[in-house]
Amino acid sequence: MPGNEAGKQPGKRLRQPIVVVLGHVDHGKTTLLDKIRGTAVTAKEPGLITQHVGASVVPASVIERLAEPLKKIIPFKLIIPGLLFIDTPGHELFSNLRRRGGSVADFAILVVDINDGFQPQTYESIEILRQRRVPFVVAANKIDKIPGWKPHPDTPFIISYRQQAKWVQEELEKKLWDNVIAKLYELGFQAERFDRVKDFTRTVAVVPISAKTGEGIAELLAVLAGLAQRYLQHRLRFAEGPARGVILELREQPGLGTTADVIIYDGVLKRGDLIVTGGLEGPIITRVRALLMPKPLQEIRIAKRELEPVGEVYAAAGVRVVAPELEKAVAGAPLYVATSEEEAKKLAERVRQEIEALRIKTEAEGVIVKADTLGSLEAMVEALRRRGIPIRYADVGPVAKRDVIEAVASKEINKFYAVILAFNVKTLPEAEEEAKKHEIPVFRHNVIYQLLEDFEKWYREQTEAERRKELEQLVRPGKIRILPGYVFRRSNPAIVGIEVLGGVIKPGYPLMREDGKRMGVIHQIQDRGKTVPEARAGMAVAISIKGHVMVGRHIDEGDVLYTDVPEKHAIMWLTKYKSELSDDEKVVLKEIIKIKRRQNPAFALTI
Ligand code: GDP
Repeated sequence: MPGNEAGKQPGKRLRQPIVVVLGHVDHGKTTLLDKIRGTAVTAKEPGLITQHVGASVVPASVIERLAEPLKKIIPFKLIIPGLLFIDTPGHELFSNLRRRGGSVADFAILVVDINDGFQPQTYESIEILRQRRVPFVVAANKIDKIPGWKPHPDTPFIISYRQQAKWVQEELEKKLWDNVIAKLYELGFQAERFDRVKDFTRTVAVVPISAKTGEGIAELLAVLAGLAQRYLQHRLRFAEGPARGVILELREQPGLGTTADVIIYDGVLKRGDLIVTGGLEGPIITRVRALLMPKPLQEIRIAKRELEPVGEVYAAAGVRVVAPELEKAVAGAPLYVATSEEEAKKLAERVRQEIEALRIKTEAEGVIVKADTLGSLEAMVEALRRRGIPIRYADVGPVAKRDVIEAVASKEINKFYAVILAFNVKTLPEAEEEAKKHEIPVFRHNVIYQLLEDFEKWYREQTEAERRKELEQLVRPGKIRILPGYVFRRSNPAIVGIEVLGGVIKPGYPLMREDGKRMGVIHQIQDRGKTVPEARAGMAVAISIKGHVMVGRHIDEGDVLYTDVPEKHAIMWLTKYKSELSDDEKVVLKEIIKIKRRQNPAFALTI
């Protein structure tokens, strides 16, 4: 909390809860937001749907009117002035609604296509909501696509549902359970259709809707509003006083320079206010030159709304702020009003610390992270930490040459982390070249989940290949016996018939006698006249042995030989690659170690 708290008196008035819409791509987030705005317009109160910058408000009176037919089922009187919806769905902007330890969003609608069920971004949305501790309701969308569904446009779900055939109702219930409620249970949430929820503090309410036909929109808004005013009153109590907000997006505006679209979640922002926000080069103290809000219009569907200057805005609001030096600001940074120069300095220090805490710069092993905003950087860092992936360097901005240099330095410690994970940012040409030269992979995506997935897949493949390669180089335990009557050549090289008693032998493996004395190296293995790459327990083959080994002098028919496993290899077998040994190899390894310890009692002692 910023230090300007003291000047504020939380009043009795409640502000609009700030609501975001999240969910998997194509599940209907945009359609739902359009519908919510459109529903309010057709409620014939266009003047009331105050359009904001980056957000729109659906007033309480509209929600009450829509919910009129439901009065018996959901009795409520709204004391909140309405709901403020963030206009851009998805998590790109959601992550910028950051507030230390949480989110500026008070509530979320998680949109799930009832027919398609949970998808990667559904899971990711829940992960983010959990992490930011944002309560949510689920909109089980596209009920109009359920086979046999007869649409009743812009009707409450309950009323439309009652008019469906029994088998259609059953189909809906089944999909609702299989694709939504059961999935929430799997994630540890208790969930229920909204009209069956007894305790909303423990159960996630699921509202079946169609963003296309408008069925269920009344309930969705009623449930949201009801829940917010009932359970979030402490958060929604409006404080008269200096504004607090967050930069959602920065925009170049001809004639005005860089402007900031800001969501104000508390207090009042006025033209001329002294404000403190943050950038990558440090905190910014500046003054509001102008505040811009959309002109009220009768028709909501006009895409490009003209903005006009206003004198002040009250939370909750979305407003475009015009002020000098905003070109140095970063999206996701907090924005506070200061009541004096002195307070501004204090707030600036707080902002500086907050932003610095999100940027990572170490000398340790780890990946390099670049993201487009402070919000997405924070989300990336948190997601990586949860997965136990170390981070060497993390910052906002395009992938630059210095990031590649960081990755090269990381490579020296652990080559599998010498990568750049670029979220929604470009790679500068110079960096591209440098990355190619040093073979630094650059992973790019605008979905965090996908970006991490891509990296993890690459990581698994690389480490597995490395493991295989290392494993290939280890001498495996093997035990053989020279078969009596099968000496083909006595020396240079010695060629004898053997049987493998246990484990494996391969060309290149050194051999030793039962007394631990080295007896040359296996040169070739032949099975019925054909050269083979190895021989396993139970096989009888011919081997040639390179080195100063003479049958009859150093070794003899009937002798038992072992592979001469070097100590380093033995330790690897006992530790990292234990699970790679077969049972008979394990037995043979024990015998080998026993032989070795006769000469060196500390041989392969791993503890
Ligand atoms: P987003 O990616 O989550 O924003 O999804 P969109 O809102 O763009 O919707 C994706 C597609 O699904 C579009 O073609 C929509 O028209 C369609 N759609 C969205 N909601 C519904 C719905 O309730 N019923 C039907 N039949 N189609 C829908």
